[in-house]
Amino acid sequence: PPATIAFIGLGMMGRPMAKRLIEAGFTLRVFDVSQKAVSDFVGAHPSALATASAKAVAQGAAALITMLPDGKIVRQAVLEGQDPAIEGLEAGAVVMDMSSSNPVDTQKLARDLAARGVALLDAPVSGGVKRAIDGSLSIMVGGAAADLERTRPVFGAMGKTITLCGPAGAGHALKALNNYLSAAGLVAMCEALVVGEAFGLDPGTMVDVFNTSTGKSNATEVKGRQFVVPRNFSAGFTTALMAKDLRTAGDVARHLKLKMPHLEQAVSYWTAADGKLGKGADHTEIFRYAEMLAEQ
Ligand code: NAD
Repeated sequence: PPATIAFIGLGMMGRPMAKRLIEAGFTLRVFDVSQKAVSDFVGAHPSALATASAKAVAQGAAALITMLPDGKIVRQAVLEGQDPAIEGLEAGAVVMDMSSSNPVDTQKLARDLAARGVALLDAPVSGGVKRAIDGSLSIMVGGAAADLERTRPVFGAMGKTITLCGPAGAGHALKALNNYLSAAGLVAMCEALVVGEAFGLDPGTMVDVFNTSTGKSNATEVKGRQFVVPRNFSAGFTTALMAKDLRTAGDVARHLKLKMPHLEQAVSYWTAADGKLGKGADHTEIFRYAEMLAEQ
């Protein structure tokens, strides 16, 4: 596996993922548009090398990880922005896009990078900040099996389950669809809690019963107990990013000319919630949005 890894995107997820790589013995070069994100990271991990552009971070690296908000930003950082990574990467390098990007854009990025002699693996993750910290993410990979084999130890430092889902874009497609399920389950739980509380039920009792009944899901088992019922709304994943994932799932369905009315409803619901809850709102605050709609 590559000994030196270039890493772009030191946000909520990128920070703990990059930390795991250092602890696993990889040498890291890091970049983020936020200079504070870079200086904080290098302050905490002095062995990491701070760089000032995507081109600089990629200099001489055989592997580049991107953990950025969306695929448009990834494309800019890797290929089309100012001082893109492609100008620094070694021939034969592999780009591992671990962001939740749009799979249709990923298919095109894979072709464009291949034309420049660079391989792409889409490798989005599920599990949130907590599982990024303990290195137990679920990683959904799209791309060539041989490229996964040469990077498996890199993924192994960050994730527990590493699944090759298919060719380029397959990982990003599966991730968007997973988050559709995750978001739908969360909204259903929130609406059930709002209705139940108005009926006089205790929310803690409701969640306990969901968890021993067929309503059980990640929303009831993890998010209900940890973030919604105690109302701390601190899961570490924003409503804006969840709304983006829903729009991605909707885009994929429409791209394939499939009608998915429930999915389209979820796209509108989360996009409206993102506008209403405001910048930086945690996705578990969707509970507050459900409460607001209930009172209208
Ligand atoms: P975040 O907003 O906390 O971090 C994104 C980082 O990218 C920020 O530090 C930002 O400064 C940096 N950035 C933005 N544009 C840049 C550019 N052009 N060049 C360099 N750096 C740039 O987001 P996050 O929560 O860490 O999520 C990252 C990705 O992972 C998203 O695609 C998200 O959907 C996905 N994801 C997040 C979670 C979660 O629980 N937070 C879980 C699974 C997947």
